[in-house]
Amino acid sequence: MILAQVPRNPLRGRVIQTPQTRGGGLTIFYVNPMWEERIKRATALGLAWPFAARTLRFYRALTSFQRDVHHHIVTASAKIDPAMLAAFVPGFIAMVEATAPHEIDVLAQRLKDKQDDEWEELLRTEWHRVGQGADSPFAFFTRSLLQPYAKHLADLWHSEVGVLDGAETACPFCGRPPQVISVCGEKREFICSLCSTAWAAHRPQCPRCREIRPDRLAHDAVADIPWMRLESCESCGHRIKAVDVGLAPDAVPLVDDIAAIPLEKLARHPRK
Ligand SMILES: [Zn+2]
Ligand SMILES: [Zn+2]
Repeated sequence: MILAQVPRNPLRGRVIQTPQTRGGGLTIFYVNPMWEERIKRATALGLAWPFAARTLRFYRALTSFQRDVHHHIVTASAKIDPAMLAAFVPGFIAMVEATAPHEIDVLAQRLKDKQDDEWEELLRTEWHRVGQGADSPFAFFTRSLLQPYAKHLADLWHSEVGVLDGAETACPFCGRPPQVISVCGEKREFICSLCSTAWAAHRPQCPRCREIRPDRLAHDAVADIPWMRLESCESCGHRIKAVDVGLAPDAVPLVDDIAAIPLEKLARHPRK
């Protein structure tokens, strides 16, 4: 029995045999190393950047949780849909209570008493909400639960569709905006905020309003991080970080992006 096809994914993967192979039939599934790479990078940056240590401690716990949800989804025998992710909510809330910054824990307390059917509705709504209206105050929670699910579906989709090449500013799989830009030499890629798909960003362009005029797009250095810059759009005010993995081969753009958040807050509110 094959639990999941091994996708042709631009991220490296490894195929492992599971204990079920004892039955005689070959059982393989794909273990995506993405989560471990993120945890490793968050650990390294947490040691190197004391200002980000607290943020990254939570990020590591969140990523470990998402890795386990992803593993469950990949190996599930039944079909998983967004609403079924509600089963993971108690563990998710416990992880948040143990490790999250205060502002996130406060929101978690407001969600704690929601019943399964309410969570199912929240998850369904977030899954179908693509670029519509303002974010729900609880979007962090629903998106965190949906990310491993979206990642799994995107992997399967990539295995069918293959390499992506386009100049659109929304994810070609799930339609969400990019969270960060990965740069290596001349190559630029947007990385999806939900399913982690990377797609070509052939030219500097604002992912929100699609502005391309060079005089409306600013590139600024980010403090003392030579491999990171902030790309700002003067037409709509959108800001997104670009991480140069050519300059920093160990960088994991989504992690470096999050690790630099406290730095941005410090820049906006410098200590006197
Ligand atoms: Zn996506
Ligand atoms: Zn813009």
